Amino acid sequence: MPEAKDNLTAVLYGIEDLRLEQRPIPTPKADEVLLEMDCVGICGSDVHYLVHGRIGDFIVKQPMAIGHEASGVVSKLGANVKNLKVGDRVAVEPGYGCRVCDFCKGGQYNLCADMIFCATPPVDGNLARYYTHPADFCHKLPPHVTMEEGALLEPLAVGVHACRRAGVCLGSNVLILGAGPIGLVTLIVAKSMGAGKIVITDLLQNRLDVAKELGADGTLLLEKGANETEIVKKVHALFGGAPDKTIDCCGAESTSRISILATRSGGCAVVVGMGPSDVKLPLGNALAREVDIRGVFRYCNDYPAALSLVASGKINVKRLITHHFNIEKMADAFNTSRHGLGGAIKVMIHVQPKDTNNSK
Ligand code: NAD
Ligand code: ZN
Repeated sequence: MPEAKDNLTAVLYGIEDLRLEQRPIPTPKADEVLLEMDCVGICGSDVHYLVHGRIGDFIVKQPMAIGHEASGVVSKLGANVKNLKVGDRVAVEPGYGCRVCDFCKGGQYNLCADMIFCATPPVDGNLARYYTHPADFCHKLPPHVTMEEGALLEPLAVGVHACRRAGVCLGSNVLILGAGPIGLVTLIVAKSMGAGKIVITDLLQNRLDVAKELGADGTLLLEKGANETEIVKKVHALFGGAPDKTIDCCGAESTSRISILATRSGGCAVVVGMGPSDVKLPLGNALAREVDIRGVFRYCNDYPAALSLVASGKINVKRLITHHFNIEKMADAFNTSRHGLGGAIKVMIHVQPKDTNNSK
């Protein structure tokens, strides 16, 4: 067979400058595999880099391949790879640590100071025809799990991590602020973990409708700028009391505040949404009522649980995908995601024609 030459890659050059260009097909290092990519979901952070050229201190200073919610098929093995074989369908866990620091050794590799994470400058992402990745951060998919579900393990793992950080368990009453992709995966996971009652809020009714479909017990449509005391009252009315856990998946100061104020004394407020780094929080309220405030940074060791959840067939994470585009239509895909066109929630970009690698 002739060697493939096409490695069409989505490369971000800077603000509003995302291009499709050919790059050389990389060679896997000893512990890596070469993947023929299948599909890649667009994440809010990809859009943020396109629009602002930076997230906090991570600045796009040189051309960077975009994309990190991905799945692909193993097409070449590095010399030391034993856990995979050519033809395996895998979900790509996009971030791995230095492997030698205390955090990496202790299992909290998401806190490694030298974390390497796809499409976080200066590290290249994987919206490309070919991409190399450490084999131990490629999770083999069972035949009945689709490549799209494989790509969705990335946001799903955030939901797993958030619910684990919140300590969601059998009977927990959980308030989720925000019904974007992250709020919705958090809902799916909290339900799977046996939460008692789940209420979810958003500014957009169409997202709350999807949340209902996915099993939310209550939804609350909020207006921007609404009075926080009133919001808390409405939340408590829906639960018949205060929720045990609140998980903020918005990234707004107002929702971080509500996550504390709405949570019952002794409960836990988890902040997943990434907004401004300095915000005003009702700390006195939190400490006088022993409401724990916990952060979430991506995930670590959460892919296996996310995969088993999908493989069980009990959840419908695919419901989050509202739009499909081929890589050649990348500009339209980003436009749809960025402006929420047609009620967009998760936009999936197909590097191979859809269903090429899904069982018939
Ligand atoms: P998104 O923008 O699609 O969803 C956010 C949702 O919150 C939207 O539906 C929006 O309508 C709603 N919202 C915004 N302001 C609100 C308000 N004041 N009250 C009620 N609802 C409000 O984003 P997403 O992809 O779902 O991600 C959610 C957040 O999580 C983002 O801030 C993202 O950066 C962050 N995130 C964090 C991590 C992490 O590791 N901590 C990982 C992934 C995403
Ligand atoms: Zn490390």
